[in-house]
Amino acid sequence: MGFPLSREVSMKKIEHIGIAVKDLELSNELFSKLFGKSPYKTESVESEGVKTSFFEAGPNKIELLEATHPESPIAKFIEKKGEGIHHIAFAVDDIEAEIERLTTNGFIVLNKTPKKGADNKLVVFLHPKSTNGVLIELCQEIKP
Ligand code: ZN
Repeated sequence: MGFPLSREVSMKKIEHIGIAVKDLELSNELFSKLFGKSPYKTESVESEGVKTSFFEAGPNKIELLEATHPESPIAKFIEKKGEGIHHIAFAVDDIEAEIERLTTNGFIVLNKTPKKGADNKLVVFLHPKSTNGVLIELCQEIKP
């Protein structure tokens, strides 16, 4: 079986893994113990209804997400599935090109226009329905 690989792919490494938590403060303590250091950043993203914190572990990053209100996607996720891995984020060079490439290949892109996410990134999400149940985030660094 062949795959349509005609377009150039700008998807790079896993940028971070997002974990949904009920209580960010408690989870910050827990993950600080786990990694032996504090989060390097905490940030609220009002448009998404989340408070986030970011940890570094070697070359890898973990994002913790807590809902700021009951209608937040994170609140709904926890309600359905409990705490745990919420998404995997991939760094991309050209988010617009990736949206087009993936849409053409049958993936469901949740927001067609990239929005500003945490950690100075433009982000879009792929619907888990189109990716074997895994919520995938694409993120592109916002250049100053
Ligand atoms: Zn993320």
